[in-house]
Amino acid sequence: MQIIYSEKQADHQPRWEWNFGKKNAYPEKTARIRTIVKELNKRGMSQIIRQERSFALDHIHRIHDPEMVRHIKSCANMPEGESAYAHIFPYRTYTPHPKTNMIRAGYFCFDVGTTIARHTYVAAKSAVDVALTGAELIAKGKEREVFSLSRPPGHHADRRIYGGYCYFNNAAIAADYLSKGGKVAILDLDFHHGNGTQSIFYESSHVYFASIHGDPRDYYPYFCGFKSERGEYLGHKMNHNVPLPKGVDDAAYLAELDKVLTRIKRFTPAYLVISMGFDTFESDPVGDFALTSPCYHEIGARLRRLGPPVLAVLEGGYAMKELGVNAANFAEGLMGKE
Ligand SMILES: [Zn+2]
Repeated sequence: MQIIYSEKQADHQPRWEWNFGKKNAYPEKTARIRTIVKELNKRGMSQIIRQERSFALDHIHRIHDPEMVRHIKSCANMPEGESAYAHIFPYRTYTPHPKTNMIRAGYFCFDVGTTIARHTYVAAKSAVDVALTGAELIAKGKEREVFSLSRPPGHHADRRIYGGYCYFNNAAIAADYLSKGGKVAILDLDFHHGNGTQSIFYESSHVYFASIHGDPRDYYPYFCGFKSERGEYLGHKMNHNVPLPKGVDDAAYLAELDKVLTRIKRFTPAYLVISMGFDTFESDPVGDFALTSPCYHEIGARLRRLGPPVLAVLEGGYAMKELGVNAANFAEGLMGKE
């Protein structure tokens, strides 16, 4: 077992988001990674923590439109303290000709909560590298379990549109990388539906996607994550959504997890990629389930027992006081520690 993280995520510090007209403090903070690493070190896991290595942009371009990647990169030229929030969402048939980052933002973004600033590109690229470093260790057979602490998260990012604090889809890029070595199943356990990942592989027969999440009738991303979305063309029946009501507890959650793991086993994947969110926690300020800290150990243990090598990629989780404990519990479950 290895845990991968990057120092390069630290300067990506959006200050606020718009949420139904209200200006809120941005919950996706630099301190999220720091608190996780601190807890892992406290539990004696410093030996298995390592930094990412840098991968070629080609891996990102296989999943994302280079125009969107260029837009995010171009924001690195913005003055310190300035942020590009979407203001206008043009028809998708138009071309992204506006020359300023500020105007162009809405062409590549689907919400008003996700901003880009000077340090976003470096952080988002490093989050991909963190996921790919883990994928490479698994593809080469050097590790059977890796936990990649990618930040910013990725599962809301689609091919040519970002949102939900996500820019590049770290888990999707890692799954694509691993798919060269066999079939891949992606299981999204963040509180929110992984709309970007679903969309990217919606017509794929090689990558299975399943997600357990808060019912989109009530929760972000609202417009997808329903049971009826089952994949199309070659990907028909390769997409499985499990929307759940608010307040789901450990027992109910683990029962749903087992059902999904049974389906995944039938698909006989060579690799399992987990979009691991901790906003399912009972006191998370963003999510609305009621999982307790010990449940994350159990989730990790069940994923390990399934059989295929597991790459877990960090997504959300905003309860700052307990995030470190929850992530470390998960890591210990995944590595087979009792
Ligand atoms: Zn989430």
